[in-house]
Amino acid sequence: MRHGRSRTGEWLLLAAALGLVLALLAAPEAPEPAEAATPVPVPAAGPVDVQVDRAATRLAAWMRPLAPGERPPQFVLFSFDGAGSHRHWQRVLALAGASEARITAFLSGVYLVPDGERRRYRPPGRAAGTSAVGFGGSDAEVDVLIGDLMEARRRGHEIGTHYNGHFCAGDEPSVGRWSTAMWDAELDQFFAFVEAARARGLDLGAVRGGRTPCLEGRWAQAYPAMRAHGFTYDTSRPTDGIVWPTEEHGIREFWMPSVRVPALRKQVLLMDYNLWMAVNGGRDEPERAAEFSDTVLGAYRAAYTAATSGNRAPLVIGSHFNRWSGGGFFDAVERFMAEVCLRPETVCATHSDVNAWIDLQDPEVLDVWRTMPPAHVPRP
Ligand SMILES: [Zn+2]
Repeated sequence: MRHGRSRTGEWLLLAAALGLVLALLAAPEAPEPAEAATPVPVPAAGPVDVQVDRAATRLAAWMRPLAPGERPPQFVLFSFDGAGSHRHWQRVLALAGASEARITAFLSGVYLVPDGERRRYRPPGRAAGTSAVGFGGSDAEVDVLIGDLMEARRRGHEIGTHYNGHFCAGDEPSVGRWSTAMWDAELDQFFAFVEAARARGLDLGAVRGGRTPCLEGRWAQAYPAMRAHGFTYDTSRPTDGIVWPTEEHGIREFWMPSVRVPALRKQVLLMDYNLWMAVNGGRDEPERAAEFSDTVLGAYRAAYTAATSGNRAPLVIGSHFNRWSGGGFFDAVERFMAEVCLRPETVCATHSDVNAWIDLQDPEVLDVWRTMPPAHVPRP
């Protein structure tokens, strides 16, 4: 369940022994096989710095209070968990640039720790050096990751946390049972790994939020630890429909929407892993990758239409750096990014971008929108 890297023999053994955490909600990351199932139409690309400026300008045009009665922009928040695959970083950086998109990547802190130093990680309630998603590989691989993260930062993307060892229900003690003290210990270590990587050239700036492994957690326990570590938001919790972020214990929650997927005629959480489970029960069927890509793209389009024509709530698209089942799921994310981010009144932004935009708003003006019913994809 390495987020997008393949060197995971030990993880696979561990997963098999655990009877597979895969049955669970979101999350797991699988080894990445080879090629893209379908070519992704990449918008015309210009020089990187021009793209970065365009994305910033697109956002800046909306960084002001809305006038009473004015429609909010349709924010789309592309977000990637794990963030440890060089190949995926290259694809996402190129596509986001061409699409004038700013994205959020949630880094698993253990990827900053070379395999040989794994015992530096002491997971809450278990032996040092344990992780469900492996570690950072060789020193050279950690350096490549740091290069990717720094390039992402330079381009205006945001790096948040996906925490460290990725322990989901069934792999106990899983994050869903952690106390505030355990969340504190986990976050202390995430920041220690980031700090130690400074010597190798990493500078993440302020880390303002994250997504929990498998979207699990006891929130009354987790939020105080997030706050204590300077977080302003979380984006882990599933909800029915597309809704505006809400605030609790000083943390703004960017909810993960669950919407009706037209091709499947059922409601699914808009997270790549859950979509895979819904499409074919999580089987590896690379020959059907193009079909899966169309199904998932259809889900994203329907969700976007529901939000834009409804409450205009920011749309969170959760994904991993993966090539599951021939890559159809990641292709769908790429196709959606390529087609949606350049639309009028649409801004593909980071979580902290949208957080800052919300803070600028007159609460009464925004309430007109955020008290509207959740956006749902209608039945035909
Ligand atoms: Zn994950």
